[in-house]
Amino acid sequence: MKTDKSDILTLLRNSTEYVSGQQLCDRFGVTRTAVWKVINQLKEEGYQIESVSGRGYRLVEGPADMLSKSEIASRLKTKWAGRQLYYFDSTGSTNTDAKRLGEEGNPHGTVVVADIQTAGKGRRGRSWQTLSGTALSFTLLLRPDFVPDKASMITLVMALSVAEAVEEITGAEAGIKWPNDIVMNRKKICGMLTEMTMTPEMDEIQYVVVGAGINVNNADPEEFEEVVRSTATSLRIETGQQYNRAQLFNKVLLRFEENYEIFLETLDLSGLQERYQKHLLNRGAQVRVLDPAGEYTGTAEGIDTQGELIVVRDDGVRTPVYAGEVSVRGLYGYV
Ligand code: ATP
Repeated sequence: MKTDKSDILTLLRNSTEYVSGQQLCDRFGVTRTAVWKVINQLKEEGYQIESVSGRGYRLVEGPADMLSKSEIASRLKTKWAGRQLYYFDSTGSTNTDAKRLGEEGNPHGTVVVADIQTAGKGRRGRSWQTLSGTALSFTLLLRPDFVPDKASMITLVMALSVAEAVEEITGAEAGIKWPNDIVMNRKKICGMLTEMTMTPEMDEIQYVVVGAGINVNNADPEEFEEVVRSTATSLRIETGQQYNRAQLFNKVLLRFEENYEIFLETLDLSGLQERYQKHLLNRGAQVRVLDPAGEYTGTAEGIDTQGELIVVRDDGVRTPVYAGEVSVRGLYGYV
């Protein structure tokens, strides 16, 4: 039997005391040699593990930031989100992977995390740039049993969750540009894409995938491709600190679990509206609504319980804006 590195790392991470080789053998039903091999692998990956004869092993410190399946799994404190975990060093798009996993019958809460996305996707065919070694890209697979027209609100639930997790980890303010861009100091640190697949009868949701890309540790704005350089930033650029992406990921999923539960109680955003509005940068601001049916400007009041942005147009008409079709910009720039 293959010893699971994630299980051993999780046990070491959660123990304040030394864990004896025998305890590890008994717990996972493996040989001493197998344990020893895993410990060595972990050391090679940069985990500082102290071994004291007669006492056992102790995790002194892990790498400051590294993405791997075991690093992520050993930090997860969630109930259901991420309990089925796929990690890829490189993939095309985590949303595409999650949809495939959805087709293959993977359960609610399955996540795909990747270090590099070579074909990251944004809304309406746009592309998402992923800087390798510094970004967090993930997609969560959900199997909701509510009606399809509620699904667009999941994006706002995730936006709130990412904003709250980022604030918790950095101590700095993170805003939301409706519906789902996360912004620090008026620049974008995170984009999201939610996609829904219906049952063949087209009357029920088969699954929803909600993906997010967060710029975490790149230190140099020049690393972003030119087209986004003026609007993109990272947690590190804005706060001067490096973060552990697996730890951030755990916080995002924990927040999402809590917020999604609140959303499920009413199947609208009434329980989350107040917290969402606090983060909403467009609130009270002049906005330009890029509607394919015609662009207009107005003042954004905030979101309603369905997640629509209420805009009082310059001609005085109060209009709920539905997220599916449009982008919203500030009058003079991105926010
Ligand atoms: P907006 O309303 O800002 O256009 P959107 O929700 O329609 O946002 P998304 O799908 O979230 O857009 O993201 C795609 C867009 O994000 C791209 O068109 C590009 O402008 C920008 N972008 C792409 N990669 C990054 C990145 N790594 N960091 C910040 N912005 C990026």
